[in-house]
Amino acid sequence: MSKQVIYLDYAATTPVDAEVIAAALPYYGSTFFNPSSAHTLGQVAASAVEFARRACEKAINADRGTVRFTSSATEAINQVLKGIEIPEGGKIVISGIEHDAVKACAERLEREGKRVSIVMPDVNGMILPDALEKELKNGDAALVCVMTVNNIVGSIQPIKELAAVAHNRGALFFTDAVQAVNSTEINVKDTDVDMLCVSGHKFYSLKGCGMLYVKNGVKIKPLLDGGNQEHGNRAGTVDVPAVMAFAEALTKAQNNVDSYNAHSKKVKTAFLNELKYGVFVKTSEQVDDIVSVAYDGVDSGRLAVALSMAGVCCSVGSACSAGSATQPHAIVNMGRKDLGQTVRFSFGKPTTVEQAVAAARIVNETVEKLKGSVE
Ligand code: PLP
Repeated sequence: MSKQVIYLDYAATTPVDAEVIAAALPYYGSTFFNPSSAHTLGQVAASAVEFARRACEKAINADRGTVRFTSSATEAINQVLKGIEIPEGGKIVISGIEHDAVKACAERLEREGKRVSIVMPDVNGMILPDALEKELKNGDAALVCVMTVNNIVGSIQPIKELAAVAHNRGALFFTDAVQAVNSTEINVKDTDVDMLCVSGHKFYSLKGCGMLYVKNGVKIKPLLDGGNQEHGNRAGTVDVPAVMAFAEALTKAQNNVDSYNAHSKKVKTAFLNELKYGVFVKTSEQVDDIVSVAYDGVDSGRLAVALSMAGVCCSVGSACSAGSATQPHAIVNMGRKDLGQTVRFSFGKPTTVEQAVAAARIVNETVEKLKGSVE
């Protein structure tokens, strides 16, 4: 490939940092042992896993023994929604901007006879504490799920206030913090969430490793039957190199939130300043590494494909088939009927201002070519 491709899809996944690879490497080689083995070598690997767990707990200000490793955030989300006991007549409340992992779990539970309701965002992408209060007023909710940072529009939710509303009404509070790790300080004591999940490949660690925080005293049934790994909370041999990498990356990300945000702001400003067309989907509180742009009269699926061919890799942020896209449900639920179809650009640590400007110019030219493709 001779043409330089500009990757603006870091919300989909990130490359792995060199230090993060270095943290994993010994556990592929000299210390390859199974942490469940009772012998001394297995116990070396087990100590490493406990070291990683403690590092993750420290990174999010959690108590000892509250973090468990999973294969992904999707698995952690499934464990929460399917593993929390919902009393007879009780309901689960999810927000209208959740990732498909939460949405699909809730839909399955509903098909199986559980009660599920949705608290909608306002037009600015926010789940307001008052809106949640209305949804909980009957006191019959057992679990509330609101993500920390939305993956499509980048809105930052008032998690501390929302968790307090849930607790006042006797519900547990879970937050999917997958898109928050690079840009937001996570402090589970301060926000008082009961459960929280993150995913390594979104913060410069390996794919296939996630983490679930569960506050002491909160009971969740395991998702998988099998061995007694993760203190009986998650069966299956622990991927030791992956959790070592994960702990290194989580610590690094949480230590560098300010510089990460300063960089993202520069890149985002350069990108938006150069864009000639489209409406940037602004929300009240917003991260700087996720930018959705709406285009009137342009099919976002076709635009994303045309951009990919022109050298800019971005996302439509929702299922896209045969070159046509539907609007992501987060934007539909915000009630933004005024907006055309959206494309999501997301920036990362390697994104330069020059790349942002060059990408925006390619977007301008591509939109010009596609104008009028939606009847
Ligand atoms: N939640 C959010 C907000 C996400 O953006 C993603 C990934 O796109 C997930 C959950 C799923 O994470 P994983 O890839 O670890 O299953």
